[in-house]
Amino acid sequence: MADGSTIGIDLGGTQLRVAAIDAAGRILDRRAAPVDRAGGVRAVIGQMEALIAAVRRPDTAVVGIGVPGAFDPGRGLVLDIPALAGWTAIPLAAEIEVRTGLPAVLENDAKVAALGEWRFGAGRGIADFAYLTISTGIGGAFVVGNRLVRGYRGLAGEVGHTRITDRSATCSCGHEGCWEAVASGTALARAARTAVERHPASQLAASAAGAPATGEIVTRAAREGCPVALSLLGEEAAWLAAGLVNVQHAFAPERVVLGGGVSNALDLMLGDIRAAMRRRLLPGHEVPDIAASRLRDDAGLLGAAVRAQEWLHETERSPVA
Ligand SMILES: [Zn+2]
Repeated sequence: MADGSTIGIDLGGTQLRVAAIDAAGRILDRRAAPVDRAGGVRAVIGQMEALIAAVRRPDTAVVGIGVPGAFDPGRGLVLDIPALAGWTAIPLAAEIEVRTGLPAVLENDAKVAALGEWRFGAGRGIADFAYLTISTGIGGAFVVGNRLVRGYRGLAGEVGHTRITDRSATCSCGHEGCWEAVASGTALARAARTAVERHPASQLAASAAGAPATGEIVTRAAREGCPVALSLLGEEAAWLAAGLVNVQHAFAPERVVLGGGVSNALDLMLGDIRAAMRRRLLPGHEVPDIAASRLRDDAGLLGAAVRAQEWLHETERSPVA
């Protein structure tokens, strides 16, 4: 039974993605829908139920759900999802079980993405592995000695909120100076908007075409050789390296995999990142492999399924309560 298919769910702020996945990590069937934000919690749980029904197989044994917020894994309770209104103290695992008859397990969204990359993607076979998503914010998860690090109440990995500077814009957490506040896609977009105002004749400004500049527009302009965009990516690389040096000293991954929109520009920044890290690492230590996510948007789906499989094995091994 434990080797039957598993359902992975990636609940994002805008997209809900559901897939049936076999034990080898093959996606057997998948569905996606825009999150019914206006409909609220009940509507979104109804969407999950419908998408599970659409993809489930006769041998489906368990559902894994990546949660972009705080949760209580023991009680299957979503405590808070900052990106979605109303998700406070929601017994999501129990709701899914009642509606589908399948047990459900919750896990942090960055941790499931890390599990997906570690088991089936760019982190495969690496005992000491870091996954970082650089998008609206910065999320992270660490595998140390072949074990995902969760820490007390699951907080381990929230490196986006480690303090890295004295001055920054206010972070999503309400404080200043976080890594996320200076190196996320949001921070890059903010710097890009300022650069467009200062350099209205630049290729970057032309690419933005009057709309607010984004990290994607910076990357495109940089590939066209725009010096303003290249300079923005130089600053982004410096901030990424500053945080990655801290990550290296704390967890010492052999390989670091970067996901999220900003990782699309990794090839343009990698030389600067590596050089800056080399200057700051303790003598005698090497810069790790740094690679872009291989599974991209599927990392969370596959990882949620990996977590669900693991949980099923743990439950089967434990003595009956
Ligand atoms: Zn913060």
